[in-house]
Amino acid sequence: MAATPRVAIIGAGIVGCSIADELVMRGWSDVVVIEQGPLFAAGGSTSHAPGLVFQTNGSKTMAEFARYTVEKSCSLELDGEWCFNQVGSLEFALTPDRLRELHRRAGFAEAWGIESRVIDPDEAARLWPLVDRDAILGAYHVPTDGLAKAVRVSEAQARRATEGGARFLGRHTVTGIRTDDGRVRAVITDQGEIEADIVVCAAGIWGPLIGAMVGMTVPLQPLAHQYTTTGPLPEVVALAIPPERENVHPIVRVQDRDLYFREHTDRLGVGSYAHVPMPIDASTILHPTKAPVMPSVLDFTPDTFAESWRWAQAIVPALRAPGVGVDHGINGIFSFTTDGAPLMGESADVKGFWLAEAVWVTHACGVGKAMAEWLVDGGSPTDLHEADVNRFEAHQLAPSYIHDRGVQNYIEVYDIIHPLQPMEDPRPLRTSPFYEREQELGAYFLEGNGWERPHWYGTNEGLLGRYDIPRRNAWAERYWHPIAGAEALATRDAAGLYDMTSLKRLEVTGPGALSFLDGLTTNRLDRPVGTVVYSLMLDERGGIRSDLTIARLGRDRFQIGANGNLDYDLLRRQAPADGSVAVRDITSGTCCVGLWGPRARDILQSLTDADVSNEAFRYFQGRELWVGNVPVTALRLSYVGELGWELYTTADLGMKLWDTLWAAGQEHGLIAAGRSAFGSLRLEKGYRSWGSDMTTEHDPYEAGLGFAVRMDKGDFVGRSALEQKDGANPARRLVPLTIGDREAVVMGKEPVEVDGRPAGYVTSAAYGFSIDKPIAYAWLPPDAAQAGQAVTIRYLGEAVSATVATDPLFDPEMTRLRS
Ligand SMILES: Cc1cc2nc3c(=O)[nH]c(=O)nc-3n(C[C@H](O)[C@H](O)[C@H](O)COP(=O)(O)OP(=O)(O)OC[C@H]3O[C@@H](n4cnc5c(N)ncnc54)[C@H](O)[C@@H]3O)c2cc1C
Repeated sequence: MAATPRVAIIGAGIVGCSIADELVMRGWSDVVVIEQGPLFAAGGSTSHAPGLVFQTNGSKTMAEFARYTVEKSCSLELDGEWCFNQVGSLEFALTPDRLRELHRRAGFAEAWGIESRVIDPDEAARLWPLVDRDAILGAYHVPTDGLAKAVRVSEAQARRATEGGARFLGRHTVTGIRTDDGRVRAVITDQGEIEADIVVCAAGIWGPLIGAMVGMTVPLQPLAHQYTTTGPLPEVVALAIPPERENVHPIVRVQDRDLYFREHTDRLGVGSYAHVPMPIDASTILHPTKAPVMPSVLDFTPDTFAESWRWAQAIVPALRAPGVGVDHGINGIFSFTTDGAPLMGESADVKGFWLAEAVWVTHACGVGKAMAEWLVDGGSPTDLHEADVNRFEAHQLAPSYIHDRGVQNYIEVYDIIHPLQPMEDPRPLRTSPFYEREQELGAYFLEGNGWERPHWYGTNEGLLGRYDIPRRNAWAERYWHPIAGAEALATRDAAGLYDMTSLKRLEVTGPGALSFLDGLTTNRLDRPVGTVVYSLMLDERGGIRSDLTIARLGRDRFQIGANGNLDYDLLRRQAPADGSVAVRDITSGTCCVGLWGPRARDILQSLTDADVSNEAFRYFQGRELWVGNVPVTALRLSYVGELGWELYTTADLGMKLWDTLWAAGQEHGLIAAGRSAFGSLRLEKGYRSWGSDMTTEHDPYEAGLGFAVRMDKGDFVGRSALEQKDGANPARRLVPLTIGDREAVVMGKEPVEVDGRPAGYVTSAAYGFSIDKPIAYAWLPPDAAQAGQAVTIRYLGEAVSATVATDPLFDPEMTRLRS
């Protein structure tokens, strides 16, 4: 048998143990887990976590991690004792907004295949008799949730891994990592060196210190969190819970008060996120040999818990009795990230150095499995892009950003977050060269990846007299204005100017550029200079890693419209070592404006000597030309389905480009239009958005992107996987739905039912102003994905009737784009 790589995992918390178990299960037995504390109550966050596992999450990936944690923990036991106590969970609503949110969560659960129900206060009080029934408006119940006994789950997995050959070294402190020629070679401990081909940092709140050993920023913020237990509480004592069971009723969350509860045999555990945030500098966390209790436990601060206690009393009458109070409390430390997702994957700069950081108990086994799949198989069937550590932009690695966003995510951990809700601080961070003009036009900005992005323009309010824009339900109306609808229609009628600067742009150059890109993507790139190609990057399974527009601007020069930093990371990683290819992120130094609509040509032609007629400058072609005084790369593309161009120039000339187009466009009815209109127009045209409509979990045929795959070209990543697939009969399909009720705009991630049974989920949604109907794209099984099929979208608990339609909904003959 071929030798497997030597893997050293730093940290024997639940994450390190899960990874070790999953690696050994896959045949990688040369695994050593190095832990500075005693095994297995090692002193990290796992050692004191009360272990509540709520699987529901807006993120499909996170829900899958949690579902696997439940499944796996249920299958484990340690010396006859349980690892998972599947008592179910309840989340109580104290406000109408929360009740609506619980319905939304029930929608996520149904979409991701987790059984759940929203129940009335009486039933909730029957399931959890400690609650003040009159304080709640309803509850959300997930029967398969429960308590993970985190240390036992760790040890049970570690034992199995040990049987398979893994070694666990307690009381070994990692003090350094030896690297050589850009890759890891060994872990240095206080008891000697351990050679390794792969090092996985699963050090929890110590992660930033381990990252620093290889010069890597690990963007997580440790924060102290308050967890308490009461003394014996008569109402819990009366339940006569056997000590070995600990807890018989569902675990409970009261997000309106930032509280959660569980039983501890005769006591009640009360955790709170309501207190003042307590960020901790990782370098101040004590070593297990120096910590009075354990390193991740700080002294309880009763004063910061006082308000939480009052709120707990308001919900649980038993806590109001004289003499009842906090018997024991801790300020326990665990990790928060800038966007709430874990940090997984390999360092961009040090080969063989991997992270599995900022993971809750809830997600630990799922993360362990995905890490092992990634290491052993090169990827996971679960889409990991939200958790990939290479997702961050440079500004997101600033210490102040990591600190402030970590703190904010702690504050917001239970908040109701609208899908469009932007971060509030720090802003503005990244602005395009058009920002000043956009402000003058009354832009309403939302933030994405640090960029200020106009969603609509106040000065377009006058357009509302021209168009009938329907209102929408209250949730969908947030961060939206009818002006956006008018902008969409005005684009179709005349022309719109769209700031596309925030889209990632890469430049790939060098004598090896063509063959490099051709081997990484599905479409044929060997075409004349001036051609633009839509192409896909796949993984080895044939899953879609990204979709790109690749413009050949010179023999050895390509400009790529990409989806984000992961594309940049992938291209850099894959680029040949011989220097024949250079990959550059040119986003920040350049800008882009979309000039789209039937009058786009009139406007552009009035500003350039170049011939931009249909005959001279065809669809999916690119040229370098002058727009007034501004040198521009013009690509005849349109994500909104209209005649027009993406116009790129350097950032210094951006405002001049905007002003030039603006002045010339006035007589043609040019307006500035925002991302809200853009989103609507792109869905009418059926253009997929990577990350929401499709990910690595989907292949091109399922996603309706088979046209971008050329099996008649040479080899490319993912090709052999596609050869095994029947492109004409995919296992599921992404299809448009139209909704009859004009106000029933949905948001995405809602479940779709066929004949009353869950069948799929919505990916993107918008109102289609040209077709005058709400649109939703959804994944459905093939038999349901037929035009005319009636389906139901479950939206915030309401049934919304929809019909599968033919793709695309607008201009299927492409007459507008090609004219
Ligand atoms: C009070 C509290 C309540 C919580 N409640 C819940 C909950 O109900 N549900 C939930 O899902 N999550 C909960 N969490 C979060 C959860 O506990 C953590 O996210 C999780 O345990 C992290 O696991 P880990 O394996 O990544 O980290 P840890 O358990 O911290 O493991 C990391 C290990 O790395 C070791 N290590 C670090 N540096 C070195 C070094 N240099 N050399 C050798 N070893 C090293 C440490 O000693 C440690 O044992 C809670 C956290 C707290 C603080």
